[in-house]
Amino acid sequence: AVAEKFGIKVRVIAGRAENQKLTTMEDIHEADRILTAKANSERLDVRVGQGIDFHEFEAGGGVVLCGVKIPHDRKLKGHSDADAAMHALTDAILGALGEGDIGTHFPPSDPQWKGVSSSIFLQKAIDFLSLRNGIIANVDITILAEAPRIGPHIEAMKALLSPLLHLSKDRIAIKATTTEQLGAIGRREGLAAFATATVRLP
Ligand code: MG
Repeated sequence: AVAEKFGIKVRVIAGRAENQKLTTMEDIHEADRILTAKANSERLDVRVGQGIDFHEFEAGGGVVLCGVKIPHDRKLKGHSDADAAMHALTDAILGALGEGDIGTHFPPSDPQWKGVSSSIFLQKAIDFLSLRNGIIANVDITILAEAPRIGPHIEAMKALLSPLLHLSKDRIAIKATTTEQLGAIGRREGLAAFATATVRLP
């Protein structure tokens, strides 16, 4: 009507129902939801990967698990920051993609990975996933440790992993258990982490 009032010739063309108006943020969220659902319905190649990692404690202070620093009277021994949980998660994603493991891509013999944040390793796995236009459906991590206590840090871990994985927190499970004082982990000589990741590929 405005165009016609100013003498502009107007022509009507057929549209498509799914080509909706985007005016408010609500419109954009709804469009995002529809497009995500459509993309997911085309990602039918669902794969599961698993990862396991053990690290020994050594003299020092504080451990890093899922990127979160946790106070402890020992630290984890390892070439990088020894984040066993993030290593297990990285291997789970690499496993789902059939892309080898952390050791393939980041050899421990290579001095450039000494002391680095393990999020670099996780990012590499996410890059492999993105290259194949895949997404993560969910991840599930279990940390096996007699000490330190993991529970109070789980929310912080989820908050840290969520943007790295492009995954909402309700799709990230982090659990912790002890070995009832059995074995090396029960003697507090180290800890272990187990992870599974479900990925969806086109
Ligand atoms: Mg490791």
